[in-house]
Amino acid sequence: MIVVMKTDATEAQILDVQKHIRELGFKDHRIHGEERNVVAVLGHVYPELVDELGVLEGVDTVVRISKPFKLASREVNPYDTVVRVGPVEIGGGSIVVMGGPCSVDSEDNVLEAARAVKAAGGHILRGGAFKPRTSPYAFRGHGERGLHILAAARQETGLPVITEVMDPRDVELVASYADILQIGARNMQNFVLLDEVGKAKKPVLLKRGISASVEEWLLAAEYILSHGNRDVILCERGIRTFETATRFTFDVNAIPLVKQLSHLPVIGDPSHATGKWSLVQPVGLAALAAGADGLIIEVHPNPDQALSDGAQSLTPKNFAKLIGNIRTLGNALGRPLAPPVEDEPVAVRRIG
Ligand code: PEP
Ligand code: MN
Repeated sequence: MIVVMKTDATEAQILDVQKHIRELGFKDHRIHGEERNVVAVLGHVYPELVDELGVLEGVDTVVRISKPFKLASREVNPYDTVVRVGPVEIGGGSIVVMGGPCSVDSEDNVLEAARAVKAAGGHILRGGAFKPRTSPYAFRGHGERGLHILAAARQETGLPVITEVMDPRDVELVASYADILQIGARNMQNFVLLDEVGKAKKPVLLKRGISASVEEWLLAAEYILSHGNRDVILCERGIRTFETATRFTFDVNAIPLVKQLSHLPVIGDPSHATGKWSLVQPVGLAALAAGADGLIIEVHPNPDQALSDGAQSLTPKNFAKLIGNIRTLGNALGRPLAPPVEDEPVAVRRIG
């Protein structure tokens, strides 16, 4: 349910409505609109509440939200959410590209990848220190040592860093290094983890689960938003279908659909969706043409030597080619590639 305030409602009236909501045992969530303020009422709302809140001073209308996801929905917040990460804006009308190795391996490789991403015009460095692997015998990441390496690469290049957190107990540690916390596809419905990143003071990139419907994905985002963390980025990374010729099936439909249903930024991951480096560019460009706010791409200086996902990793040269084509496409779409990150390093929180 949302309480839409009158355009001339005073601050005191809005605060009074919020206080009332809390006194009735619900959670309140304020949305500052361009024309008017809206207060969302969260919890098991009942129909009589429409009248109970409707009589308060400064209230224009009280509207029930039809969708099961509330804070994630455009019904509650019609304005596009822009997630700010250091100097980079995601969802602000320009295209943002994240690039880097699947897993953080050696410091030399990560630095080389980071320099290549930056030189090509990429905006954010990706790399996994804690890796979700199908087999327990596969390389599962360097853990905190990997976070040190990412922080060193950020310090040198100025690129903000995105990395996955898998365990609710690690959220504080990972958040002390990362600029964006990544929730992997396999953890999209790890509700305890979603609760923890909802409480973190860092943006969260939420990958769509391998078999998750769009509604389940947006309800997972709702977990994070409901804790007060408004900086959620959605990521379509392919879903499982009967087709085995590619690693997953990139659900291009989901991109414009989610942009209609939600105000949250959406990015595409053609690397995990296709599993083949030669398909990354065409599928990535399709995601952008469908309305994605950016891409996340696996890049490795020597894909053959990557400790995970080498087959889908672009070489620095192919990544630079992709960025060139994104630039052309972005201009045609009226959503240009976001400006390059300047040389000054973003605030480094912790370096080992
Ligand atoms: C990743 O981006 O490193 C990753 C493991 O992706 P996903 O969770 O989409 O499989
Ligand atoms: Mn990977």
